[in-house]
Amino acid sequence: MLPRGNKLFSIVHQTCPRCQTGPLFVSGAYDLKNFTKMPEKCSHCGQRFELEPSFYSGAMYVSYALQVAIFTTVYVALRVLLDPDMDVYMYSIIAAVIGLFPVTLRLSRVIYLNFFVRYDPSFDKR
Ligand SMILES: [Zn+2]
Repeated sequence: MLPRGNKLFSIVHQTCPRCQTGPLFVSGAYDLKNFTKMPEKCSHCGQRFELEPSFYSGAMYVSYALQVAIFTTVYVALRVLLDPDMDVYMYSIIAAVIGLFPVTLRLSRVIYLNFFVRYDPSFDKR
C-alpha cells in the first residue's frame, strides 16, 4: 500500500494532490464521452484543478513521455516473446497507444498537476 502524502498515492488513485481525497475526474477512463472531464475544484478541500488558463497543455510533455514508454514496452515485449514481422510491431504499437489513450491522457494530467501542487496534511481530514 502506498502511504498517504506520497505523490504516487495521488497519481495511482487519481485524487487531488493537496488533500489526496477528492477525485480528479468525474467518470471512469473508458467512459469515452466524459473521460477528460474534471471538476473545477476539489470537492473535499477546494483546490482549483486548472491553475491557470490552458494549464493542461503542459501535460502534453508528460503524455509524450508516457507514449514513448508504451512504445518501448510493446516493442521490447514483441521482440523478446515473438520476434514478428515489422508490420506486427507497427500495428501493435498503434493499437496499444490508441487503446491506452484515455489512461495516458488522465495519467499525464495527474502527474502534471502533482508537479505544481503539494500534499498538505491539514486538508487530509475525512
Ligand atoms: Zn483536495
